[in-house]
Amino acid sequence: MNINQYFRAAAGAFLVGACLFCLSCAISEDPEDAVPEAAISDSEFGTMPDGTQTRLYTLVNAKGEEVKITNYGGIVVSLKVLDKEGDLGDVVLGYDNLDDYINDTPYFGAIIGRYGNRIAKGKFTLDGAARELAVNNPPNALHGGLRGFDKVVWSAAPLAAQGSAGLVLSYVSQDGEEGYPGTLDVKVTYRWTDESELRIDYEATTDKPTVVNLTNHAYFNLKDAGASSILDHEMMIQADSFTPIDDTLIPTGEIRPVEGTPFDFRQAAAIGARIGDDDEQLKFGLGYDHNFVLNRPGDGLVLAARVSEPTSGRVMEVLTTEPGVQFYSGNFLDGHHVGKGGAAYERRSGFCLETQHFPDSPNQPDFPSTVLRPGETYRSTTVYRFSAE
Ligand code: BGC
Repeated sequence: MNINQYFRAAAGAFLVGACLFCLSCAISEDPEDAVPEAAISDSEFGTMPDGTQTRLYTLVNAKGEEVKITNYGGIVVSLKVLDKEGDLGDVVLGYDNLDDYINDTPYFGAIIGRYGNRIAKGKFTLDGAARELAVNNPPNALHGGLRGFDKVVWSAAPLAAQGSAGLVLSYVSQDGEEGYPGTLDVKVTYRWTDESELRIDYEATTDKPTVVNLTNHAYFNLKDAGASSILDHEMMIQADSFTPIDDTLIPTGEIRPVEGTPFDFRQAAAIGARIGDDDEQLKFGLGYDHNFVLNRPGDGLVLAARVSEPTSGRVMEVLTTEPGVQFYSGNFLDGHHVGKGGAAYERRSGFCLETQHFPDSPNQPDFPSTVLRPGETYRSTTVYRFSAE
């Protein structure tokens, strides 16, 4: 059964069930009046150098808002949501073809693993065994290595459910891949809901002790998907503290209160309001490129951040089960990535909110642990929720 047949069958079964409850079908005879259902379709995206075909999946919700995801790197290629006028617009940076993603991307929209963020000098020790990773961001290891989860082709299966369109991506990372121990069985489920939530559920198991820290690296610009600056976006981050870094962007181990610093986003502030302050931490990151320690009353999803953009009225809330979020203000973009619609992504034309465990946790015993052992299941959920005001 191909994906379209699968979805027709699933939609048929759902409609039969829905008819038992739905009065409007009995009242309205005009099919135009029917409430649209969330749906998924797919098309070719491109061919890998080894001949593997990749697909592009389009998830549409009942409002007609649409997310496109490819199984190459699990990349969110586009995300079109309504603004305050009711117009659809893309809010993520990226490319419209596979080759550009293969050739040169600063992780646009991708799933990051096995370890999102940096590991100092590409080294860590687990249960007494020293491990060496590629130093792909000298002098450190960054975002899973030379061929991280952002650069592999995932198996993909559609997921039909009431009120959302979903896509399940799976990948088995071999023991020793990119220097990490253990065969890691990974499942990432994207759901695009009628409430305009992009929900990402991550799951992983291992056959040997290892470290895991999965995230998504979407660059957002709620105004125009990267055609202009993000400095006017209003940012709120629910964090009383952050993890200061050294000049190689590795946490020093300190958990520092944000009070009285340009890192205090507990009340919403424009991203650009303090980014030019004479502050050592901002100098190290060339702007914001820091892990915020989320205020977390317990386990489960908490609101991590809320971002609003005044012109479009678009709002994005980020909820997560993770203890931290890396707020990266796109400082290293420099105009040379030319993306969808010919947009050259200038410095600070996109921002990332990468929900995560803290950077360099494998070397920082006081940080929440990223160790996963056989018999355990790694689980993490993040929701990007969109609205307009
Ligand atoms: C890092 C940045 C890095 C960017 C792209 C972010 O997650 O924090 O330092 O430049 O990813 O690689």
